[in-house]
Amino acid sequence: MKLSNITKVYGNGSLKVPVLHDINITIEDGEFISIMGPSGSGKSTLMNIIGFLDYPTTGTFELNGEKISSASEKKLAELRNKHIGFVFQQFFLLPRLNALKNVETPLIYAGVSKRERSDRAMQMLTKVGLKDRVKHLPSELSGGQKQRVAIARALVNNPSIILADEPTGALDSTTSKQIMELLVQLNNEGKTVIIVTHEDEIAEYTNRRIILKDGRITDDRRRTP
Ligand code: ADP
Ligand code: ADP
Repeated sequence: MKLSNITKVYGNGSLKVPVLHDINITIEDGEFISIMGPSGSGKSTLMNIIGFLDYPTTGTFELNGEKISSASEKKLAELRNKHIGFVFQQFFLLPRLNALKNVETPLIYAGVSKRERSDRAMQMLTKVGLKDRVKHLPSELSGGQKQRVAIARALVNNPSIILADEPTGALDSTTSKQIMELLVQLNNEGKTVIIVTHEDEIAEYTNRRIILKDGRITDDRRRTP
């Protein structure tokens, strides 16, 4: 994935708010990246662009060598469903659905049969260590278990990229470590993982740190082996 000269300006007319300036990032398959920086520096905006949730104002975006900066909304939605799994600080589970049904939801949109939905959701919940919690409602699960359900849901379409915006932001430090170890495992299995975090201890798990300040990249370095 390659972002070239990306800018983002919110609003129009006299209310223009420039948020990202001349962002250049090349992300190789299988990288594990943290995006850091102060509140308001543009981290969420950048994640939204990387995840095809939002268009840059200018600049180009290539995925697997294909320029997709000018793709239609429909095409962007397709790419998103195929390639990206999202994880958020607040989990965003559906409160009336049990863990299994929550994990199944992306497959409903993908038109997968009922039987296969249930099988695949079960497989993903087993992978994240929740085989014995599949019938629990979100309210019956701990924060860490809720985040595991959310990660299982992010994985169920078999995306190549996991985008996690503050995935440990609502968790205590022991639970945060467990969630990061799960993300390390997924990365070792070949997923590209990109997280936003404020915490050095969390960024320590990743292999590359990108620092944003006022919408510009001020540092981008890989872990020295
Ligand atoms: P959003 O991505 O929704 O704009 P923010 O990045 O503003 O959210 O902040 C998310 C949470 O992290 C908030 O609770 C905020 O107080 C906290 N936070 C923001 N910036 C920092 C920082 N530099 N160091 C520590 N915590 C921060
Ligand atoms: P971060 O995640 O680092 O906290 P954001 O990407 O959320 O930063 O926001 C960067 C800047 O863009 C902030 O000043 C924020 O107020 C502004 N911003 C974010 N979303 C919008 C929007 N939809 N319209 C206008 N300004 C926005």
